[in-house]
Amino acid sequence: MDFKAVEQRLKGLTCPVCKTSHDFMIPPDSRITDGEYKAYCQGCRYSMPVHMDMEGYLRNQPDVPYWLKGMRCPACEKTGASLDFWVQPSVRGAFYFVTCNACKQGFFEKSSLEAFE
Ligand SMILES: [Zn+2]
Ligand SMILES: [Zn+2]
Repeated sequence: MDFKAVEQRLKGLTCPVCKTSHDFMIPPDSRITDGEYKAYCQGCRYSMPVHMDMEGYLRNQPDVPYWLKGMRCPACEKTGASLDFWVQPSVRGAFYFVTCNACKQGFFEKSSLEAFE
């Protein structure tokens, strides 16, 4: 997963602070920890964490693979997707960016973190 690809995918998101869909930028020096970076809103400079170490994440969150299996693709309506990365625009929720296993369409799902608390 490279930064440019992630930035492309983030274009569909609305900034939780300025409520506009400005582009989010991920400067390579925004590294927080291994696999974790910051994406900045180009409008208001709000930053949110981007998690890209999916292998480590899925190891620690055994519920998530089950959730992905039941995820329905908006393009082909088949179920089953793989997780590419996820962002956390606010403490209450996250966006999971996934790719459909059947047709390789990328889409994202909003999730409240309640299920994982
Ligand atoms: Zn903003
Ligand atoms: Zn699909």
